[in-house]
Amino acid sequence: MHVLITGGAGFIGSHLASFHISLGDKVHVIDNLSTGRMENILPLLDHPDFIFNEADILTWDGLEKAVWWADRIYHLAAVVGVFRVLQEPISVLATNIAGCERLLRALHNSRWETKLIIASTSEVYGNRGENELLHEEMELLISPGINSRWNYSISKLADEAFGLSYARQYGMDITLIRFFNVIGPNQTGKYGMVVPRFIKQALNNEPITVFGDGKQQRAFLDIRDALVYLDRIAHNPQSKGEVVNVGTNHEISIGKLALMVKNTAKSLSEIIHIPYEEAYGKDFEEIYHRKPDLTKLMRLTDFQPQWDLERTLEDLIMHKQQKEY
Ligand code: UDP
Repeated sequence: MHVLITGGAGFIGSHLASFHISLGDKVHVIDNLSTGRMENILPLLDHPDFIFNEADILTWDGLEKAVWWADRIYHLAAVVGVFRVLQEPISVLATNIAGCERLLRALHNSRWETKLIIASTSEVYGNRGENELLHEEMELLISPGINSRWNYSISKLADEAFGLSYARQYGMDITLIRFFNVIGPNQTGKYGMVVPRFIKQALNNEPITVFGDGKQQRAFLDIRDALVYLDRIAHNPQSKGEVVNVGTNHEISIGKLALMVKNTAKSLSEIIHIPYEEAYGKDFEEIYHRKPDLTKLMRLTDFQPQWDLERTLEDLIMHKQQKEY
């Protein structure tokens, strides 16, 4: 199979690239290396079935040809990470919407049977109550105005609408994935992601920075499970034209996560609390709960996650130690 991955030098993209190479597929990655990193794909560069182009999805003149070549496309190229989203409110909208639209137009001019997986986000659900399961068909609430955080959700909702419209109007094989806090090696803390930040802080015996009171909750999915989900979704014809949550619903508070990372890393770090305003700037709106309804994911994949958070953190800490020491 021929697999094209836009944003393939980023966290999820680089794992998808290795996964498909290990299956014997041919993989073509394009990435402008804005958040993606060469080191993530370094082990693949010499592989005869791997092609890499440092290119921007908005301007790359090889896109039509690469799309024609592909049997499966993962569209992950986007401006991501809460810090980056807050710093670049315009490019989040411009890049994420125009990049996806350009890819859809290229695919429309190509082979419609190619499977296209578009990365969306659980951010589209906005702020919800404690016990509310986030369900793909529920109505969405986005706070008005001031807060640039929502530009990311808006850009991804526009991508969803574009993808679904192409799927409905032309019968193209497109699936939209709402990712919920996926974690694993190659994820950088530079743009805000909590797990790589806490691990780095713990291993350096620096203060572990919990933002706010630490009672906000997240459920973390191991990348190894995410890869199985994505591949099963792509293989299942019933995923055509669907929006699908990909995550787990084992929530943990960020305060407890900090303690778990500290203990697992046997760290001397203290755990400190930083007000949201200091961490993200004025008018930032935290999301306190984020728990996916996984009914559709289970129906499409028939797969239960194999890695619990304790194990994932142990592996990540070991991986980081081996890399740095
Ligand atoms: N967070 C934190 N300390 C950090 C980085 C993040 O307490 O150094 C918190 C953040 O405020 C949020 C949670 O961890 O409540 C997850 O943040 P991340 O940016 O990883 O994901 P998202 O907010 O998009 O779910």
